[in-house]
Amino acid sequence: MITPNRHYAELKDSYLFTHIAERVEAYQAEHPGAHLLRMGIGDVTLPLCDAVIEALHRAVDDQASKERFQGYLPECGAPFLRSAIAEHYCSRGVSLAEDEVFVSSGASDELGDILDLFDASSSALVSEPAYPAYVDANVIAGRRIVHLPSSRADGFLPEPSDEVRADLIYLCSPNNPTGAVFSRDQLQRWVDFANDHGSVILFDAAYEAFIEDPALPHSIMELPGARTCAIEICSLSKTAGFTGTRLGYTVIPRDLMCAGMSLNDMWVRNRTTKTNGVSYVIQRGAEAVFTPEGQRQVQGNLAYYKENARVLMRALDQTGTWYCGGRNAPYLWVQCPGGMGSWEFFDLLLNEAQIVGTPGAGFGTCGEGYLRFSTFGNRADTQEAARRLLALLG
Ligand code: PLP
Repeated sequence: MITPNRHYAELKDSYLFTHIAERVEAYQAEHPGAHLLRMGIGDVTLPLCDAVIEALHRAVDDQASKERFQGYLPECGAPFLRSAIAEHYCSRGVSLAEDEVFVSSGASDELGDILDLFDASSSALVSEPAYPAYVDANVIAGRRIVHLPSSRADGFLPEPSDEVRADLIYLCSPNNPTGAVFSRDQLQRWVDFANDHGSVILFDAAYEAFIEDPALPHSIMELPGARTCAIEICSLSKTAGFTGTRLGYTVIPRDLMCAGMSLNDMWVRNRTTKTNGVSYVIQRGAEAVFTPEGQRQVQGNLAYYKENARVLMRALDQTGTWYCGGRNAPYLWVQCPGGMGSWEFFDLLLNEAQIVGTPGAGFGTCGEGYLRFSTFGNRADTQEAARRLLALLG
């Protein structure tokens, strides 16, 4: 009889968003006229910028033209996009070769697929609270997981320690859900730690575009030593509103070796075996993000979300509520007032202010006592949420 991957049975059911939906539905059934403010959702709401839309249209026309039609593209990404991404890094002072950039269908896909590079016996450290996919992808692969909790005391930016070692190290900065961002020195300590112990850092930079403070690193590749210990996984989902369009990219430096094997070479072998790449049309749309016009327009959309963050931060500041994030990230990680639990505060906000947040307990046990607000909503709802927060907590 065929044996299934029994590790699926070890996955904890992801009740978080189901529970939220159930509670919201029940509330709405009882209060049909209530205007709910959904501040929990991690999806963007603004449309793609004009430069991207025009590039997508042009690419569709290419596919209708006998001369310009594109069939299969290279599995690791179209040269025009790989070079545009490499040049984008270069403009920030990070020198990358085109073949160190891999185009993907998004960070989620890559975060799961990249584990093919490592033996199932390797262990994975997850700095928590964390994006749930890090843990689940490793449970499915049967890996031992080392949970590294963080807290208000360390600003939700944990330091490496000899007591918590692992082969793979997941770091996400700016962080989902906490919005915390590693400083250059803090990230350098992780790079040094990984090089000293022969670990590989999987650096999730999905929210790098939200960084405004020039002192903060956008990419782990900015740091000395990262080329021998880190893989960077990034996405246009939040940068450029590609959540439904789908495009990401992964940087695997040629210097990154594992027991004498080149992880870059291995990933080429993996991609050429397991995928035929990302659609031509979407890659052309993504290329437009990296043009000067695309960058200007994308920044315009990000500015809208950042203003939402400021609206919420002003209200929380006035109520004296502790939070982190919001400044260089699209999430605010709010401490539940009066020692309330995550779900207790969720219910209070829903019942008393008709605001829907995301309970922090859904991102790991150390998320208990916190709640995540997203700034991806529309301005009017965000302003109304700020007003209601002030009335409730002020
Ligand atoms: N990484 C983090 C930290 C995220 O929050 C998300 C999506 O919310 C992703 C990765 C997934 O991004 P993508 O849409 O590129 O799959």
